[in-house]
Amino acid sequence: MTEKKCTKYESLFTFSSEEELKEHLDECEDCRREQEEMDKISELIQEVRPYYFQKRTNSINSFKVACVLFIVRICILRIFWHSKKQHSF
Ligand SMILES: [Zn+2]
Repeated sequence: MTEKKCTKYESLFTFSSEEELKEHLDECEDCRREQEEMDKISELIQEVRPYYFQKRTNSINSFKVACVLFIVRICILRIFWHSKKQHSF
């Protein structure tokens, strides 16, 4: 058991190949959780994408898109916050 939460996910996700990321996910539970979160977001994006490209005539569709963009923004902010914590000092 590791004391600290693994922080490799962001860098692997950003800079490494998919294979390297998968290899690490096989042995790291922390990063698997991160991956699950990302999967959920991708699913949401895929679900919403068709609506996004449709003409915005339906306010429910616009609302759905806004929700997903909001979630994605939180995640991006979280990733930024993580890397800030790593690199400062
Ligand atoms: Zn990890």
